[in-house]
Amino acid sequence: MKALQYPSVGAAPVVVTVRDPEPGPGQVLLKVTAAGACHSDIAVMEMTADQLSFPLPLTLGHEGVGTVAALGPGASGVSVGDSVAVYGPWGCGVCRMCAQGKENYCLRADAERIFPPGLGEPGSMAEYLLVDDARHLVPIGDLDPVTTVPLTDAGLTPYHAVKLSLAKLVPGSTAVVIGAGGLGHVGIQLLRAMTASRVIALDVTEGKLELARTVGAHEALLSDDKAPARIRELTGGVGASVVLDFVGAPPTVALAGKSVGVEGDVTVVGLGGGALPVGFGTLPHETTVRSPYWGTRSEFAELIELARQDVLDIHVETFSLDEAPRAYELLTSGNINGRAVIVP
Ligand code: NAD
Ligand code: ZN
Ligand code: ZN
Repeated sequence: MKALQYPSVGAAPVVVTVRDPEPGPGQVLLKVTAAGACHSDIAVMEMTADQLSFPLPLTLGHEGVGTVAALGPGASGVSVGDSVAVYGPWGCGVCRMCAQGKENYCLRADAERIFPPGLGEPGSMAEYLLVDDARHLVPIGDLDPVTTVPLTDAGLTPYHAVKLSLAKLVPGSTAVVIGAGGLGHVGIQLLRAMTASRVIALDVTEGKLELARTVGAHEALLSDDKAPARIRELTGGVGASVVLDFVGAPPTVALAGKSVGVEGDVTVVGLGGGALPVGFGTLPHETTVRSPYWGTRSEFAELIELARQDVLDIHVETFSLDEAPRAYELLTSGNINGRAVIVP
């Protein structure tokens, strides 16, 4: 089958032919119907050999939707022909975190070298994808695979972040979203669907600000030195209740710190290498700063339920597997509106 692989450190991703996978005991084989391209893949492809925790070549794609093609011996819970979305942060399934559905924080994943598809295990940017266990699949029925696949990460990660701050997102609150890209444009919609907060989105181009407004941001501002003062002004001087930073670079985490209000939350989702010091007097009193990873299995099931209510408007640009390297070039240069989705 064809697959998009990251072949070696520093090399560009290439389409190659690999052996068709066969499902082993407990595994489920999917015929991939859609695979999303995440900015984290670019971060992986910028890592040095020392920073990479898994071997190359790697078939990319940690966002996947497919049709069940075959079940390995002993596998059950789904049937051939089912359309399913893949929960990506695979864990051991039995530790204290996994028992709560928090496989994204599996306590044994590192020691047992359990990796998500596309981030260690072969990913979804291929004609077929092997899934280690049916518990990592959520049936999506007649939802469109192309607009559903971004929910597996670009939806689940902001969903988890929003849930962490729900108690603060009361009527009268303000949420700031930094970066209206793949994750951010879903994050804005989740804030609108799940809370009564006022949403202020920040990005660096007018095109991205336009997308932010289209998907529900009340205000969309350029992410520059003037943004914190403008956010103070828009919040009557009190600052944001919650800042979700989907960039995470030094200037954006600094901006987040300057924009948040007392008892606020700063949630750094982006992998941009920024850090926000916390200590008495550095931030408004009782500010919480956190950096979550992906989301839980139950949250993923909840998010698919939300998608069924037809309240999400996921913007995608589609590419064939052969065009996938181009999708990553466009994502790197900030020229994808919403999510790039590969349709093998
Ligand atoms: P993306 O490229 O689709 O979106 C990033 C957006 O940020 C773009 O719209 C870009 O124009 C904007 N941007 C860039 N610099 C900015 C700045 N200084 N101020 C405001 N906006 C700016 O990327 P994505 O796939 O949505 O991923 C976003 C980030 O989240 C990446 O760093 C990715 O690695 C990370 N990520 C983290 C997790 C997690 O679990 N923590 C999960 C998925 C992705
Ligand atoms: Zn991702
Ligand atoms: Zn576990």
